[in-house]
Formats: sequence, C-alpha cells, structure tokens
Amino acid sequence: MECFCEQKETYELKVEGDIGADPIWCNKCGCNLDIGLISNTLTNELIEWDEDKLLPNGIELEEEHNKQGLTLTDKIKKELEGKYRIKFSPSTMARMYANKNH
Ligand SMILES: [Zn+2]
Repeated sequence: MECFCEQKETYELKVEGDIGADPIWCNKCGCNLDIGLISNTLTNELIEWDEDKLLPNGIELEEEHNKQGLTLTDKIKKELEGKYRIKFSPSTMARMYANKNH
C-alpha cells in the first residue's frame, strides 16, 4: 500500500470512521489510504458505515456504530490476511459531547 511514510509503503492499517474521507488510514503516519485494495462488497459496506452520521449525544448509537466498525474490521482482516496488520480505532465523539455537558 503506497503511503507517505518514510518507507513509502505501509502494512499497518487503521480503520476509523471519519466523515468526508475513506475510513482506512496508515497506522504509522496517519495519512488517508486508498480504499481500493478491498473487495467492492466490503468497500460499499465500509462507505455505508462511514456515512452513518452520529446524532448529538447519541452515545448508544455510537456504541452500535463502533460494534459495526469492529465487525467490518474483522472482515477486512480476513480479506487482507497475511499482507496487512489492521486495527480498529473506535469513535469517542458522543462521549466527548456528553462530558462537556456535565
Ligand atoms: Zn504511512
């Protein structure tokens, strides 16, 4: 996977939902990676998951969203087995909103 790291390529990926960008990132330098290395079916699932925007104070919704993200990460791991190390980075946005209100 081509990247902006010192090595110019990365085998350590991170799945993190971020509105407006593909949800696959380099775990070393944090740059956004091309989603094209996984199958079309899985890409569509990822994009749907990524676009599933959070409601303010929706902590339960966010936990559900993170569970789905974890499931998708496992599917990506299976597709890219042996090539990449992939970890899931759960969203904590709703929790941050909640803490601000107390
Ligand atoms: Zn990188």
